[in-house]
Amino acid sequence: MLNIQENVSLKEYTTFDIGGTARYFVEAHSLSDIEEILAFVKEKDLKFFIFAGGSNVLFSDDGFNGIVIRITVNSMVLHGGDLMCGAGTDLMDLLMFAAENSLTGGENLTGIPGSVGGAVRGNAGAFGTEMCDIVREVHVFNIETGETAIFDNEKCGFVYRNSFFKKNPQYIIISTTFDFALGDKKEVEMKMYNIIAKRNTKQVQNIRSAGSFFVNPIVDEDVQKMFEKDTGKKSRDNRVPAGWLLESCDIFKKRIGDIQAGVEHANYFINMDEGTAEQVMQLSAVAKTRVRDEFGVQLKEEVVLAGF
Ligand SMILES: Cc1cc2nc3c(=O)[nH]c(=O)nc-3n(C[C@H](O)[C@H](O)[C@H](O)COP(=O)(O)OP(=O)(O)OC[C@H]3O[C@@H](n4cnc5c(N)ncnc54)[C@H](O)[C@@H]3O)c2cc1C
Repeated sequence: MLNIQENVSLKEYTTFDIGGTARYFVEAHSLSDIEEILAFVKEKDLKFFIFAGGSNVLFSDDGFNGIVIRITVNSMVLHGGDLMCGAGTDLMDLLMFAAENSLTGGENLTGIPGSVGGAVRGNAGAFGTEMCDIVREVHVFNIETGETAIFDNEKCGFVYRNSFFKKNPQYIIISTTFDFALGDKKEVEMKMYNIIAKRNTKQVQNIRSAGSFFVNPIVDEDVQKMFEKDTGKKSRDNRVPAGWLLESCDIFKKRIGDIQAGVEHANYFINMDEGTAEQVMQLSAVAKTRVRDEFGVQLKEEVVLAGF
């Protein structure tokens, strides 16, 4: 039974802890819930926004004047070697379930907050592993046509922090089947433990932010050389870290109201207390202008903006 609520505060559903209220809010536990919700959307002629873990989204202070749909399709089924997982499942739960069953391949992704669907859509990654390395196929629902489809890995169009689904938001991810390999349970658990320890030393856990605010941009050769000279590191795929650009422009620890550009590195915008979306957008504008003026590079948000 659907529970469509009115005037629901969105901030508690996001890791940024920011956002006004949704005119309507509903959780979708299954494909049939989603179909039912979309009938309601059509009947009321509403705008809608889909999210899940809320770890990569910034809701406006004015909230969302439509319906916000939280995907909570929560399931994990292991059949033979196939692990199938509902899109609303917490990514961490998936990795722990894989470990319990001695399945290896996703350990480097340990600690990335949010849902499996959100991670597939953004091709989330860390420490050299991306979702595309473990996804076999994705079960989707097209909200425009009402049809379901199964996309194999290639059809998902995965590239750095991007996918077919990010470019085609009419597709809702319902579930994903994974390609893990059989490994040693203790080794898998140890790897996961070590990754969490690494993330803790970088202090990227348990802060009120939405992760990296800007995507690492593709830059020209001059900027790549400046980065390599300054850091002694190689640029990858013609990209440099957005955090390095921000730090080079003195954005690190810049604060507007209660929003600060990092405590450890500048590309995590952090809600230090009672920060607002307006303050995030102001800090973002200052950062973009400085990077554009100094490097001729246009930064783009990795964080999804909703209700602006
Ligand atoms: C402290 C911290 C650390 C982080 N570290 C990393 C990291 O190491 N690597 C990394 O890649 N990211 C990282 N992130 C970012 C974030 O965790 C990932 O982008 C995550 O995969 C987002 O999943 P989510 O469910 O929270 O998505 P949400 O924030 O709920 O939504 C993000 C977008 O995904 C879409 N979406 C969500 N579910 C679905 C679905 N089922 N079908 C279609 N579209 C959907 C939404 O419409 C929205 O556009 C970090 C974030 C935080 C706060």
